[in-house]
Amino acid sequence: MKQLLFILLLSTSILIIPGCDKSESKPNEPVETNKTIVEHFGQLNVNGKDIVDKDGNSVVLRGMSLFWSQWGGQYYNKETIKWLRDDWKCTVIRAAMGVEGGAYLDNPEAEFQKVKAAIDACIELGIYVIVDWHDHSAEEHLEESKAFFERISSCYGNYPNIIYELYNEPLNVSWNDVLKPYHEEVISVIRTNDPNNIIVAGTPNWSQDVEDVIDNKLVGSNIAYSFHFYSSTHKQELRDKAIQAINAGIPLFVTEWGMSEANGNGIIDNASLNEWADFLEAYNLSWCNWSIVNKDETSAALLPTTSSLSGWSESDLSVSGKIIRDYLRLMNSELFDLL
Ligand code: CA
Repeated sequence: MKQLLFILLLSTSILIIPGCDKSESKPNEPVETNKTIVEHFGQLNVNGKDIVDKDGNSVVLRGMSLFWSQWGGQYYNKETIKWLRDDWKCTVIRAAMGVEGGAYLDNPEAEFQKVKAAIDACIELGIYVIVDWHDHSAEEHLEESKAFFERISSCYGNYPNIIYELYNEPLNVSWNDVLKPYHEEVISVIRTNDPNNIIVAGTPNWSQDVEDVIDNKLVGSNIAYSFHFYSSTHKQELRDKAIQAINAGIPLFVTEWGMSEANGNGIIDNASLNEWADFLEAYNLSWCNWSIVNKDETSAALLPTTSSLSGWSESDLSVSGKIIRDYLRLMNSELFDLL
């Protein structure tokens, strides 16, 4: 019976994926006994300033961002993501696909396959996955971005696991004249294939100037806006921008934040970190922490000497890695225990 159900699920999943290349293998369906996170929450929606589950209840996703795919691609796999779900209690993973810097623009198929491996793993493991066009000048790569999201949405638009992040961190460019038109074009491509999964739009000035969206939102449903911070650099002034936007009904998603300085390195300001954590909880914001990589910088969760892809002990983790693992386990364990 189990086997029959499995075969039925498999054939259903083949039927509901239009437009995938024949060569593209499909993710396995979740086969575990307990419910998965995605089975629990189901299709996510944006309702006002909140993200809600299939029943309309507020949802807060917390997890880790992988590092740029061209430099941290070894972690784009099921082994690592399973560990991040089971030990770190991540309910969401962000696949940060590099665009410039020897990434997608130069090697589109190789980078696509890394993202695909991460997506397939998240579907199989029953957690959410943010598919991030990790670019700082995406308005110059509009056609490439549209082609990428066309492929992602045609392959995966029927899976509630997928969250599209269209533009990681724009530089100091106009929301109205540059970013809004970019997002409108990419959204129209995605919505042809996928009417409902959440789309997160990047905002000006490294996804910080979210107040620019007030009274100038994108048209359409299930659209949220990126808000990023690095807690040792950014303080109340940046939180005030977010609060202004939230109070105006703008739904925010913290697709990336770090407990370092804004360059990913430097000190950890514990007092500021606590203020940001309180802020995230007070406003029910979903987030991914930057990042899973073994690099000699403050925001990297793994020590440079850590070569394993999973099974990390405390001594494999950086200071920030230990803090964020403890925090994820504190905040998310209760949810996993419910399943
Ligand atoms: Ca969908």
